[in-house]
Amino acid sequence: MVSTLLVVVDGLRATDVRKMPFLTQLAHRGVSYRQARSVAPSLTRPAAASLASGAPPGVTGIPGNRLWADGHLIDTGRPDHLVELLRSLRGDRLLPVPALGEHLADHGHKLVAVGTGSNGCTLLLNPGAVDGHGAAIGARPFGHDAFYARPESVRRRLAGSLPQAADGPFPELDWATDLIVDYVIPELAPDVLVLWSGELDDVQHANGVDGPAGDDALSEIDRRLRRLIDRVREQTPHTDVIVTADHGFSNATHTVDVADIESLIPPSLTDAVQLVDNAPGTDTHSVGALVRLMLGATPAQVAPALAPAGRTSGEHWIVVHGRHILRRSTPAPPTGDDPAQLATLGTALGTPYLYIDGLSLRALIPSAPDTRPSAPAQAADLGWILGFSAPAAAPDLPRADRQAERARQRAIAADTPPSCTPPTRSALMRSSRPPTPKSSPGPASPRWTRPAHRAPRSSWTPCEPG
Ligand SMILES: [Zn+2]
Repeated sequence: MVSTLLVVVDGLRATDVRKMPFLTQLAHRGVSYRQARSVAPSLTRPAAASLASGAPPGVTGIPGNRLWADGHLIDTGRPDHLVELLRSLRGDRLLPVPALGEHLADHGHKLVAVGTGSNGCTLLLNPGAVDGHGAAIGARPFGHDAFYARPESVRRRLAGSLPQAADGPFPELDWATDLIVDYVIPELAPDVLVLWSGELDDVQHANGVDGPAGDDALSEIDRRLRRLIDRVREQTPHTDVIVTADHGFSNATHTVDVADIESLIPPSLTDAVQLVDNAPGTDTHSVGALVRLMLGATPAQVAPALAPAGRTSGEHWIVVHGRHILRRSTPAPPTGDDPAQLATLGTALGTPYLYIDGLSLRALIPSAPDTRPSAPAQAADLGWILGFSAPAAAPDLPRADRQAERARQRAIAADTPPSCTPPTRSALMRSSRPPTPKSSPGPASPRWTRPAHRAPRSSWTPCEPG
C-alpha cells in the first residue's frame, strides 16, 4: 500500500498555489507549512538530493546542477555522470548519507521515484535504485534515448511498451500518471511514491513567471495532479499526500552569470564548506563578501565585510591579479561559459574565490601568513600571467590589491610568470621599507604576443611590499 505520495512540482512558488484550484482545495483540507524552505543553493538537483536524504548540500556533496569533481565536470542531470563518475569517485556511494529509499529498504519497505524532470534528478530521489532498492523511473518516454529506469528489471519491463507520440501540452506527466496507476502501484507496490514534475520549471525558465505561459502551465499541471491524486486514492484511499516544490522563481530585471561560481566549487561541496569554514573568522559577512568578489567587486570593496568593525581579524589573504596572454600554445581565455577551464584555474590557484572578466583575473587565496599559492605554474600553462600580493589581513586588502596589480604589471613586462613569491611574515617584518623597484612597471598594452624568450616558470621575483 502506498502510505505516502510525495509530489514535487519543480519551480512552484507558494504564492502560485492560489492559481491552482485543486491544490488550493487540497491545502484547505489539509495542513500548509508556511516555513518550508529550499536549500542553498536553491537549485533543482541540490534540492532533490537534500529532499531524498534530509541532508543539506554541504553534506550530500551535490552543490550544483553541475559540479567539478576530481578533474571531471559532472552534469547531475545525467545518470551516467552520477553513477559512472561521481559514485565511483566516492567509493561506490552517490550520496555520502543514506537516502530515504535506502532507509526504507533496510526496514523491508520500498520507495519508487517517478520523474519527468531530468533523469539525473529522478535518480537522486532514490539513488539506491541502482542497487535494486525500490526504483527510479525517468518518465520521459518519447524518444527512447531519454527514457531511464533502474533497476534493470524495471527498465526491461517498460522498454517494450513506451508510447511513440502524444498529444497535448504535458504528455509525459500524463504518461507518468498512467504508469503509476497501471504499473507502479499494482506491480512494484511501493510504500512511498515520489512524483517529480519538471514541466513548470521548463515553462518558467523559458517564459518567466506571472505571464500567460506560466499561468497556463499552472492550470495544466493542477488538472493533472487532480487526476493523479484521485486515481492513486481510488487504489489506496488512505495514502497521505504531500505536495511541495524544490525552489521558487523570481523575475529579474538584470542578471549575473554565476556559471563560474557553480563550476568553481571544489571536488565536493563538503570540501568547499570546509574551505570556507576553515577560513578563520568566517561568518555570513565574509561569505557574502567573497561571493561579491566572485561577482566582480574588488578586494578593496569587500575588505570591510571580511573584517567587520570591532572584530580581531587573524585571517590572511593573498590577492591575485592576472592577465590572459594569447599565445599559440595556450587555450583561449576562460569565460563564464567555460567552467572546465575556470575550475582548473581555481584548482591551480587553490581557491574558489576567483573572478574573471574577459582577459582579466582577480582572486583571493585564503592563506596562512607563510603559505604560497599551490600550483601557479598550471595557471601559466593556461595562459595567465599572474601577480601575487603578500599575505594580508582583511583590513590591508586594499594595499594588497595595489601590490598584486604592480606585481602583475611587472610580470607582464618581464613575461616571467608567475611573478612573485609572497614573502613570509618574518621577511615582511624584516623589510620595513619597500625596496627600490629595479624597473618601472610595464604598460598594460596588448603587445605581448609571442615572446622570444620565456623564463622558467620557477623564476619567482621578489614581491614588492607596501
Ligand atoms: Zn527545480
